[in-house]
Amino acid sequence: ARSVHQIQSGQVIVDLCSVAKELIENSLDAGATSIEVRFKNNGLDLVEVQDNGSGIASENYENVALKHYTSKLSTYDDLASLNTFGFRGEAISSLCALSDFHVITAQANQVPRANRLDFEQSGKLRKTQIVAGQKGTTASVEGIFKRLPVRRRELEKNIKREYGKVLNLLHAYACISTGVKFSVKNTVGKTRNVVVFSTNGNVTTRENIANVYGAKTLSALIALDLDLEYEPSTAMKRAGDGDGLNRIQVQGHISKPVFGEGRQTPDRQMFFVNTRPCGLPQIAKAFNEVYKSFNVSQSPFIFADFKMDTDAYDVNVSPDKRMILLHDAGALIESLKTSL
Ligand code: ADP
Ligand code: MG
Repeated sequence: ARSVHQIQSGQVIVDLCSVAKELIENSLDAGATSIEVRFKNNGLDLVEVQDNGSGIASENYENVALKHYTSKLSTYDDLASLNTFGFRGEAISSLCALSDFHVITAQANQVPRANRLDFEQSGKLRKTQIVAGQKGTTASVEGIFKRLPVRRRELEKNIKREYGKVLNLLHAYACISTGVKFSVKNTVGKTRNVVVFSTNGNVTTRENIANVYGAKTLSALIALDLDLEYEPSTAMKRAGDGDGLNRIQVQGHISKPVFGEGRQTPDRQMFFVNTRPCGLPQIAKAFNEVYKSFNVSQSPFIFADFKMDTDAYDVNVSPDKRMILLHDAGALIESLKTSL
């Protein structure tokens, strides 16, 4: 019988993208400036993320994989001002339930020693072992969904598509994360560690985009820099809030319109809210419609970061945190279309 823990874990980790997302966000939260992602057989056998971040403090070894353990939220008040990706302490605990999970971690003062931590399915620490290692954390997820056979079979069947989606997500993290080197490798069959893409820890998102998509894509881009101002819908009006207008900045890069025949490449569209990668299908639709209305057949390259007040949206609507709810999407989209 399936345990309650397994079922709940399956709502936090829904697919291969969730695995990569949670591990990368933990690395970014730990202050990493270098992140290597390694796949075996497109992620079916292994998804592994190595970072050079702070490492896990030894007094937390017992706790890290327990449900709702987080080192990132000390009081309830913090929730509003939180600037970390994680705060619910569900990812590691869920990965223990859904895969063979272990970490190797070292803080600066422990190097060249590191600790390998192995966990029970429940998240209880099973054993620790001293190994050689560098500062930072390597988290390894082997055989994801092995205990949820239906979902495992789905993943195996769709692995090509799922792997493609993961790469797009990794592109988004790599492009937005200035000052962080990314390297992504995949080993399929007997070929060894093929580098899929990498970035150089650049200062600008433009340079990151050049690393990921190539100089040719870069040369076709123009800066996106919009200041949107719009009347919030009545439901969203807040008392005593200046002139009552919502203000949002949109920053990034879009391709110059190319008229006539073109390739359809919607996988080159990345959206962010306050630098958090997220799917914003309504916004994507708005961009594509504007390009279409100018008779541009090619779907545009879009890298768009929406800078907005933290009370203008909610990231806490789904357990996997991939959905972002914009409280005033309609008015925002109208204003966006006008500005574009
Ligand atoms: P959350 O990110 O919401 O705190 P997680 O389950 O993702 O919850 O992680 C639990 C805890 O494990 C984190 O709060 C952090 O203390 C520790 N941790 C996980 N990954 C890393 C990492 N790569 N580097 C340092 N600490 C980590
Ligand atoms: Mg986390």
